Amino acid sequence: MELRSPESFWLLKNGILYSYPSLQENVECDITVIGSGITGALISHTLHRAGYRTVVIDKRDVANGSTSATTSMLQYEIDVPMHKLADMIGEEGAVTCYREGITSIEVLDLLLKKEKIDAGFERKKSLQVAHSEKSISDLEREYQYRKSHGFNVEWLTTKQIRERYHMETLPGILSDEGASIDAFRAAHELINRNHHSGMQVYDHTPIKEIQYEPDHVKIITDDGFQIHSKRVVFCTGFETLRMFRKKYADVISTFACVSEQSFGLYPQLKDLLIWDTDDPYIYMRTTDDGRLLAGGEDIPFKYNRVTEKMKNRKIDRLIKKIEKLFPSLTFIEDYTWAGAFGVTKDGLPFIGEHPDFPNAIFVLGLGGNGITFSVQGMDLVLKILAGEDDPLLHYYRFDR
Ligand SMILES: Cc1cc2nc3c(=O)[nH]c(=O)nc-3n(C[C@H](O)[C@H](O)[C@H](O)COP(=O)(O)OP(=O)(O)OC[C@H]3O[C@@H](n4cnc5c(N)ncnc54)[C@H](O)[C@@H]3O)c2cc1C
Repeated sequence: MELRSPESFWLLKNGILYSYPSLQENVECDITVIGSGITGALISHTLHRAGYRTVVIDKRDVANGSTSATTSMLQYEIDVPMHKLADMIGEEGAVTCYREGITSIEVLDLLLKKEKIDAGFERKKSLQVAHSEKSISDLEREYQYRKSHGFNVEWLTTKQIRERYHMETLPGILSDEGASIDAFRAAHELINRNHHSGMQVYDHTPIKEIQYEPDHVKIITDDGFQIHSKRVVFCTGFETLRMFRKKYADVISTFACVSEQSFGLYPQLKDLLIWDTDDPYIYMRTTDDGRLLAGGEDIPFKYNRVTEKMKNRKIDRLIKKIEKLFPSLTFIEDYTWAGAFGVTKDGLPFIGEHPDFPNAIFVLGLGGNGITFSVQGMDLVLKILAGEDDPLLHYYRFDR
């Protein structure tokens, strides 16, 4: 089958899982969570279970932002290599942030198990390969750096990669800790469970205005209804960046494709996340229903500028790269799409308060690995509300 879809694979695979009413009355609560992607789902879950009266609103359907487009590779390795991050924020910071990535994968695994949510979560190793001869030494330095800090990494030669994974590539780092997930389903299931236990959820509820008062926040919707809450948590993804006077991150469009279910995938690839050192880098993984899912070819984001023609050109390039890495495979595409996400200079998210928005907390799990940052946001939001500190709040603060 060859179907070039404008919708992402996850939307087509899962369909509209759960739908909610739009807000048609005034409500009062402790905390309003704006945004119902994977971040909003995780944060609202934490708040609701901690006993805060929580309202979730979204201007779209649940999880229809980046969460519907993501390739959902869960890696502790962020877009900036650890040794380079150490140059930016210090060795202790880099090690802390990388270690937290590993913890996040563990936390998410446990959460899904506890809630009995089947969202295709699978533990995987992560292989980052050099994309050019020139990049090998940098990658080797990263390997040594991570190894010296106790991370479970292995240096694989070209021959070893070929033998293990039938891949034709330069050497790379194999990390033990990684995973993949269907983030769209995870977000939906989590929100729905909490909705059943009393959390209020409203989709298709755009906001007209937000008034930040000294002791509460008033949200006025397009339909003229109000939400009064003590605090508001923005889980609004890359679109949040428009709220700030300062430019905190770039936004990029990225392109993704997924293969047909059975096109001769090597069983060894089932447990592997693959990416390279290129800029932009190619990234790929298998899905729990036996497909190869790949992304890359990033370009600066411009509203409504990704045309079908451009997408097809990018996807063709992506598939050529995949087939170069796996010469004996013919990638037969099933679905292709484009999506967007925000990218920070240091690869870290913004999680915390902002002086221009009293009583607001932001959880912006930006970057190509935003999901693990969203998981970290769960604990951090509770700490902010309790007035407690955490080293991560220092590394993820706005004025860094
Ligand atoms: C193709 C692609 C591949 C990716 N690959 C990976 C990967 O492998 N691993 C990884 O970790 N991350 C990856 N990412 C990034 C990851 O998808 C994001 O970090 C993550 O989905 C962000 O989730 P979120 O809930 O913060 O944002 P979103 O999913 O964008 O959700 C934000 C929600 O807020 C709502 N919203 C926004 N503004 C308002 C408003 N004013 N009022 C009401 N509602 C509002 C939106 O409608 C949306 O539902 C990828 C992204 C893309 C596009």
